[in-house]
Amino acid sequence: MDGLRIAVSKGRILEQTLPLLASIGIAPVGEVGRRLIVDTSVPGVQIIIIRATDVPTYVAYGAADAGIAGKDVLMEHGGEGLYEPLDLGIARCRLMVAGRAGVQLPGGRLRVATKYVNVAQRYYAERGVQVEPIKLYGSMELAPLVGLADCIVDLVDTGSTLRANGLEPLALIADISSRLVVNRASMKLKQTALQRLIRELEAVTRQVADAPA
Ligand code: AMP
Repeated sequence: MDGLRIAVSKGRILEQTLPLLASIGIAPVGEVGRRLIVDTSVPGVQIIIIRATDVPTYVAYGAADAGIAGKDVLMEHGGEGLYEPLDLGIARCRLMVAGRAGVQLPGGRLRVATKYVNVAQRYYAERGVQVEPIKLYGSMELAPLVGLADCIVDLVDTGSTLRANGLEPLALIADISSRLVVNRASMKLKQTALQRLIRELEAVTRQVADAPA
């Protein structure tokens, strides 16, 4: 497997991806620490560590041949220039609409705070609901509490962040997990290496899914 660059995002995706890559023999050489580009135990295979929302961009432009990104990020990006050959089943959560517990949403145009502006716009357009998306970069849960928005579109895992802020889930937009994405040109030019990566990751992903809890 030579000449492959794999983009992974910091945080929980990196934490869950490194063991998967290690189990197919791709381990970072030395401490990852603050390094953004890391050689691995496989000569020519590098891992780059970037923000989750940047993974589709690096892969679509071919700066990385493959990447691991949440379905939420891919839905927001649109997926142009990318193949999505594999659901890794990691970093599972739900993309949901949430609002203040027990408070009815207003009838007219809804103000929706989210970092998923494209997803929210598409979701409400399909339902014929007029929305004013308000782009935020974090702590979406605050927006309905201080009158910035009527509701939010955000990731929910255990639901404790919603509960701690007096919010409740209102609708499920999508079940989310992390996916392997591949640059379309790389898929042709580095077919052997990428197909091997996909096959091996698929095998370990299946093993993890089949393992007793
Ligand atoms: P929870 O309180 O467990 O429902 O987690 C909700 C918070 O964690 C929200 O701020 C989410 O944006 C974030 N979150 C939950 N799941 C994920 C995930 N898979 N990837 C990134 N952020 C997540």
